[in-house]
Amino acid sequence: MSDYHASALLMAVYFQGMDREETRSLTRIMIESGEKWSWAGIVDGPVADKHSTGGVGDKVSIAFAPLAAACGIKVPMVSGRGLAHTGGTLDKLESIPGYRVDLSHADFVRLLREVGYGMGGQTATFAPLDREVYGLRDVTATVESTPLITASIMSKKIAEGISALVADVKWGDGAFMPAYEDAELLARGMIEIGDEFDVRVEALMTRMDIPLGRTVGHALEIGESIALLRGEPADARLLDVVTSTVARLLVMTGLAGEDAEARARVGTALSSGRALELFRANVERQGGDPRVADDLSLLPGAPVRREVAAPADGWLAGLPAREVGYALIDIGGGRNLKGADIDRAVGFVLERCPGEEVAAGEAWCVVHARTDDDASAAAERLSALAVWSPEPVTLPPVVTLAISEGR
Ligand code: URA
Repeated sequence: MSDYHASALLMAVYFQGMDREETRSLTRIMIESGEKWSWAGIVDGPVADKHSTGGVGDKVSIAFAPLAAACGIKVPMVSGRGLAHTGGTLDKLESIPGYRVDLSHADFVRLLREVGYGMGGQTATFAPLDREVYGLRDVTATVESTPLITASIMSKKIAEGISALVADVKWGDGAFMPAYEDAELLARGMIEIGDEFDVRVEALMTRMDIPLGRTVGHALEIGESIALLRGEPADARLLDVVTSTVARLLVMTGLAGEDAEARARVGTALSSGRALELFRANVERQGGDPRVADDLSLLPGAPVRREVAAPADGWLAGLPAREVGYALIDIGGGRNLKGADIDRAVGFVLERCPGEEVAAGEAWCVVHARTDDDASAAAERLSALAVWSPEPVTLPPVVTLAISEGR
């Protein structure tokens, strides 16, 4: 099929939807388009993974994988690139100098044996159909479709040969399914497809109404993830989603008896430095510069920095995630054309996150841009997006529910 035929089909699915049987068939076709891995006799321990339905500032996978590996889970993670207004794990990882994500099965075997986790992308032999469809959806406004998201995520995860999956299902303004009810249907549909292909799936419903964490932009998000792995003070919401996903998987795979024990193990993996050690080992084996774990200045940096000042004393009450995602694309940090290159250095650092206090004239955000014009445009846009409150603001919990059953 040519790209324009495939795009027309995707648009038809986007408007028309797919029933359960059609979604299952599409998932199967996507699995069968490439290799299906099996880990029996190759690695010891449970082989499992997590996947997000997509968000802004969503860097959870970067810290999740080394933490899960440090707790004894083997993680053959296959992720995607940026999709619409959301950032992609592969694009983020590639901001580490030299880091390679075009891994073969043999590369994953070596990584799982030697480090406990690998992070790659769809290739010509693994999930090749998702690779094509994913790239087209990104630039044809056909991302926000429950069957297409389900088939895309589940085909990759089932083909990985894992036994358990935690789906981080986002809802809220910056999610592909903003309405909670739609996101819940997506979660339950993924659980059903997992059942049919013998992969146990549980969904954590998490809020994506504001960016997750303090950074949005590829290299900046890698920096924030490394800081978290180093045990530096982390954004509480980010840490919560990271800890919750690893802990859930530890319970699902039987490596921990219950949630409190699982969380304690994640805490130890972090405080002992073991997860950071595995991150370093992974970066080295995937061709990257492992010194990045100790020196964030090795990540690409943008030449222009522009502070965005608060208009009055008060609390940052909101920052619509979707528009922040589009603002990143508009300064070069995302794609408008299939296969286009992106600027991994640009982005935003939130000196104040929603819920935090700021004084008039103080910088609540710093824009990292390639040019002065981009910096000014983004600063103006973010100023207009920020919602302020004269009263203290308390954010609701980021993780709203765990779901383990289909519809
Ligand atoms: N992640 C994927 O892999 N596919 C989607 O469609 C959305 C998020």
